[in-house]
Amino acid sequence: MNALIFGAPGSGKGTYSARLQDKLGVEVIAMGDIFRSIIKEDTPLSKTVKSYVQAGLLVPDEIALEVVKDSMLKVHKINGFILDGYPRTLAQANALEKITHIDVVLQLCVPDWVIIERLSSRRVCKNCASVYNLRFLKPKSDNVCDKCGGPLFQRTDDNEEVIKIRLELYERETCPLVRYYDGKKVPFISYTSEKLAVPPDEVVDYFLVELKKLRLI
Ligand code: ADP
Ligand code: ZN
Repeated sequence: MNALIFGAPGSGKGTYSARLQDKLGVEVIAMGDIFRSIIKEDTPLSKTVKSYVQAGLLVPDEIALEVVKDSMLKVHKINGFILDGYPRTLAQANALEKITHIDVVLQLCVPDWVIIERLSSRRVCKNCASVYNLRFLKPKSDNVCDKCGGPLFQRTDDNEEVIKIRLELYERETCPLVRYYDGKKVPFISYTSEKLAVPPDEVVDYFLVELKKLRLI
């Protein structure tokens, strides 16, 4: 199963794809995580990437494409993959089509007010990038990752001003891709929720049932 996961920042892409990875043995390629690890290096590339990510802007398409190509080569895609955070522009979608086939789009539809509430209380493990929420998905002990014991931190782009920019860019650049994949007859599995806190397994179970119906798992 080669899947894309689409949804606004804070819609839960990372949370659900990590759980699907555990259940299905698929690889997750998460662009945001890859860019954050590039930022930790001290290279000319890391400085460029940092300037975009911190401002909530999209990293230029040429860089994003190189990064996604490189990650596709590195992972073992025996059971397929879930791409989280790529493509985000039409140019990226066209580039992706030349390197791989996509079987399904997993789509998360969440209203803006929920996103803003969730992102302001989101925390991420410095060590393994697991995602928590201080209000809706708490770690067992404060500021410590359940999985690896690493310290949790707040992303510098998870502040109100930058969140607004990210949401606007999502609407403008990424939303049109829904029509693009629809036009290519790629099947969609959409999960819509108006609630602030949804048990992650509820969403994951829904995706699993629908993926079975499509005979992709
Ligand atoms: P979000 O919660 O906004 O979906 P991510 O962790 O997926 O956050 O991405 C964080 C940042 O990384 C984005 O705001 C953007 O700067 C950069 N980024 C991620 N994916 C891409 C991409 N495909 N093209 C360009 N920039 C990207
Ligand atoms: Zn961790």
